[in-house]
Amino acid sequence: MDPFVGIAIYLGIFSLLIFILLMGPSPRFRNGIIGKLNYLLTVALFKWLGITIRKVLGNRVSRMIDGIYSYCMEQKNPVLPLVFLTLMTGSVYTFFVAGWHYVPGPYVSKIHIYIIPLIIAFTYLSFIIACYSDPGRIAKENVVKACKMFEYDFLIFEPRKCRTCLFPKPARSKHCSLCKMCVAKSDHHCAWINNCVGLKNYRYFILFLYSIMQICFYGTYIILCIFCGIAKNMNLSSALVKNPKTGVKSKVSYHQMALLLIHHESFLGILGIFIVLVGIVISVFLGYQFYLIFSGFTSNESLKWSDVEELIMDEELWVYDRKIEPKSNDDNNKSRKKKNNNDNVNKKDISIEGKEKKLNNNNIRGIKTYWIKPNNLRNRQNNQNSNNEISERSDANNEHQQLLSSTTTTSSSSPSNEFRFGKQVKSISEVKNIYDKGKWKNLLEVLFPPSL
Ligand SMILES: [Zn+2]
Ligand SMILES: [Zn+2]
Repeated sequence: MDPFVGIAIYLGIFSLLIFILLMGPSPRFRNGIIGKLNYLLTVALFKWLGITIRKVLGNRVSRMIDGIYSYCMEQKNPVLPLVFLTLMTGSVYTFFVAGWHYVPGPYVSKIHIYIIPLIIAFTYLSFIIACYSDPGRIAKENVVKACKMFEYDFLIFEPRKCRTCLFPKPARSKHCSLCKMCVAKSDHHCAWINNCVGLKNYRYFILFLYSIMQICFYGTYIILCIFCGIAKNMNLSSALVKNPKTGVKSKVSYHQMALLLIHHESFLGILGIFIVLVGIVISVFLGYQFYLIFSGFTSNESLKWSDVEELIMDEELWVYDRKIEPKSNDDNNKSRKKKNNNDNVNKKDISIEGKEKKLNNNNIRGIKTYWIKPNNLRNRQNNQNSNNEISERSDANNEHQQLLSSTTTTSSSSPSNEFRFGKQVKSISEVKNIYDKGKWKNLLEVLFPPSL
């Protein structure tokens, strides 16, 4: 098979796999073929593998593999950073052995002798910074400041307590079970840098991605220039090739020239193909990170917004604007009566009361927006998280429910009374992301995060 066709097929399969792994859990694809393939690759395959290993190799080997899996996937560990360092150092070593003596060359100027080491050093440095930078650890000393940094929107973030850290969870924060800490404006835990990505080090994570993309595309450019130089030295442009079937001689095509050069400098050729593929994958991922930044949400929040989208698709999200003003006793009695008659609605209604308490406490008057969502948003989120996270959330949820039930008795109005005036949310565009400050302000917040 032609190597270039092979690369195209590989790229196609690889892109499809990435698409299935990334998009499979999203509401749009969850119930379709993509969702089923995602389940097959992420759950069913591992279950089947576990059963097969147990049957073939016995319980002892199976337990050992479970232990390795647990160490690699459920604990903070240096496995992937070491894989990165091995790949990076291996690639640099291959270049110095197979390509350095071509620098400078007919198409590679002398300046690259200085640029190449600088680019390599920059990549290692950005990796070290990303690995060891503080993602925005929330501790006793800064939890109050962290809570004031972002307000709760009562849609994707509600007041709750972190069971492990035993203090309130600020809006946009998340407890990382691997790092064993709450992280402000948490994005995700990156196994490649063995560190969380959050408020304070998101910029370093972006820098790290940029540095890999830079070294990959710069390396590809240098290797292409070296190959052009070799082709020039070999005078390939005027060489003739004989067709074995017809015996007719013709000029060497670019395709044949590329195959000849890869064959001539195979290590450099393989390195070039490898880094261009990595460069493409990283640039797509970097582009996605910028899309998230400009949209005003983190990777963690994008999952929560997917759940909101699913609620909207299931016609389960309602909204109403209510004027905050004191109600008469008659209204209170009517609304309590209505509340008793409509348990179903009241069970659904958590976020309204939470926000109501906050607003009442602050004595705010005017039109305010309230979200009415069923508990299953929380349940869906719980199902997607680890057991630890489930217990942590449910504990915080109980506490929050207690807080809310105490509010209900003192609250001057019943949410069910207002439910009649609510409007069903038909599209995600009707839901405002309060954390989105606009494209460039979002970017500035990432580049110059507020101090914690
Ligand atoms: Zn925590
Ligand atoms: Zn973490």
